[in-house]
Amino acid sequence: MTTGASQMITGTSQMTTWTSQMSTRKPVFPPIHPIPYICSPMTSDIIQLLPDSVANQIAAGEVIQRPASALKELLENAIDAGATIINVNIKDAGKTLIQVIDNGCGMSDTDARMSFERHATSKIKNAEDLFAIRTMGFRGEALASIAAIAQVELKTKRMEDDLGSSIEISGSKVENQSQCPSPNGTNFSIKNLFYNIPARRNFLKSNPVETRHLLEEFQRVALSHPDLSFTFNHNGIDVFHLNASTFKQRIVSLFGNSYNERMVAVEESTTIISIKGFVGKPEVAKKTRGEQYFFVNKRFIKDNYLNHAVQSAFQDLLPPGSYPSYFLFIEIDPAKIDINIHPTKTEIKFEDERAIYSIIRASVKRALGQYSVMPSMDFEIDRSVNIPVITKDTVIIHPSINLQPGYNPFTAPRDAPSHNNKKIDPNWQKLYEGLDLAAIEKEAPIPKETDEDLSEPIGHVFFQLFNRYIVTPMHSGLMVIEQQAAHERILYERYLNYLTRNQGLHQQQLFPQTIEFSATDYDLMNELEEEIRALGFDIKPFGKHTYVIHGVPSDIRQGEEKESIEELLEQYKNNQSTLQLSKRENLARAIATNLSIKAGQFLSHREMKHLAEDLFSCHSSASAPNGKPIWMIINEEEFARRFSK
Ligand code: ADP
Ligand code: MG
Repeated sequence: MTTGASQMITGTSQMTTWTSQMSTRKPVFPPIHPIPYICSPMTSDIIQLLPDSVANQIAAGEVIQRPASALKELLENAIDAGATIINVNIKDAGKTLIQVIDNGCGMSDTDARMSFERHATSKIKNAEDLFAIRTMGFRGEALASIAAIAQVELKTKRMEDDLGSSIEISGSKVENQSQCPSPNGTNFSIKNLFYNIPARRNFLKSNPVETRHLLEEFQRVALSHPDLSFTFNHNGIDVFHLNASTFKQRIVSLFGNSYNERMVAVEESTTIISIKGFVGKPEVAKKTRGEQYFFVNKRFIKDNYLNHAVQSAFQDLLPPGSYPSYFLFIEIDPAKIDINIHPTKTEIKFEDERAIYSIIRASVKRALGQYSVMPSMDFEIDRSVNIPVITKDTVIIHPSINLQPGYNPFTAPRDAPSHNNKKIDPNWQKLYEGLDLAAIEKEAPIPKETDEDLSEPIGHVFFQLFNRYIVTPMHSGLMVIEQQAAHERILYERYLNYLTRNQGLHQQQLFPQTIEFSATDYDLMNELEEEIRALGFDIKPFGKHTYVIHGVPSDIRQGEEKESIEELLEQYKNNQSTLQLSKRENLARAIATNLSIKAGQFLSHREMKHLAEDLFSCHSSASAPNGKPIWMIINEEEFARRFSK
């Protein structure tokens, strides 16, 4: 690792970025045209419009990936229809039946038929409406897609009609349409999803996996609509029976009674967004990603950047390696987000991303601060606070959390809340660190914090003990750093950053190498190809089960290019079986584990110094990605105690 450690710090000179490669990339496979374009003199025009059924099937490929995606669309339609009671019946993990019954507005005969046409929607009328969307759907393609790839039965009736209408449609073909007595509302049954596309049907995962996806989708919708009643029945068994309730009660009904005691309320209202919800108390944080939910205008989203905002608000309060639970609702003017997102995607674009980051972070910190100082103040948050005014360029947070540097909660004369005989968490001061404009710095998308304890200069002398610990004297005592954990943290943050920015640095190989994979590993490579590239591997598919490597991240030693990819996959699969991690998180961890300096490895003085410097410029230097502590300080008291002074 002698070369690796110095490369890790200095080796940027010969790096080429992936983007500079892109423009010169050639397609790997020549396009295949078994029958070349034959232009006979008889038929000079060859372009035709696809029949609707085919176009719908193609669209369905994107919109409906599995039973859970169909359930999501039906639930969202029921909500848009103003339903207050929504019942879900599932058979065989949705492979046989997905039924959603609602008491919403219902449809007329014509609308019932129209609802299966592509781009048929009652939710928007023109382009301007796209910027004011409050409904869950608007694209008008879900039902058309579902009807193209399943056998669908619809029964629907409006309150004002005497008779309802019933339609059976399969593979986009209307089999039956009639009038019939029916309760008010709508009843959709989707049977035998992908019955006409065996390849897709075979691609479905096992029943437990598909059921998990269904439940996830259901929980997201149920969480964001606590005011509605839901039931979820699988193979005749009632899995959930949720009455209309408060948000807190809904969380408890979905995740269990223990959540009653576990959460702290978050509530903040600003000119840009309002936030409401709950975060888990630090002491109940989970070792794996627990319940982490963001909703924007009641739509579930996943957003690493905002997740980071919450995670960083917890910093120093969480046991190492654990993740906070949170259920946060953001309300924002629809014109300020890019709503034109793909139906299956859960990302969203905000106009004022940085400001939103700061607001979320500040609100969570404040909620935690109030809880730490006044643990008795359980759920009800003090409503008498000022509303911060936030514009694109400034963030002014409520004065009580914009504390002066050096503010000491124990000596502050006024406004310090009375804390009776409750124990104060000494860490709570840290809650207020970095609450200035740092969070909206122009350059860094993920703001860094400096660790107060380490602001004093790190010693200039380093010793290595047992080829494993780096020891350095400091003002406050003797610092001991575990080298492997430290390097894992450094690499993990570096590669996570590459993945987030999609710009890993790589060193070009003089001689490209090929690797042949097993069929399953090749599939995994395909699945991860984009991310692996973002890590800094310049790889391309190259024939059957094979990839060619043109470049690798500069942390990888020469001659170990092939092994590094194989080990990366291996570690990825390992992580996958034991932890619930996102692709990126998993890959960053996997590469960090593989490339890190190991215990037992000799380090030069220079390498130790670089390692320490890199470690303490990490976002969180206290623990390795797996939660193990990285360093400790043996302080004066400890020495005194040892010498029985
Ligand atoms: P979208 O929701 O994007 O408009 P869909 O294909 O999901 O597109 O639905 C098409 C239309 O069918 C909707 O705009 C709505 O008018 C109608 N519709 C669908 N589901 C229901 C329902 N459960 N109750 C009433 N109307 C519905
Ligand atoms: Mg819809």
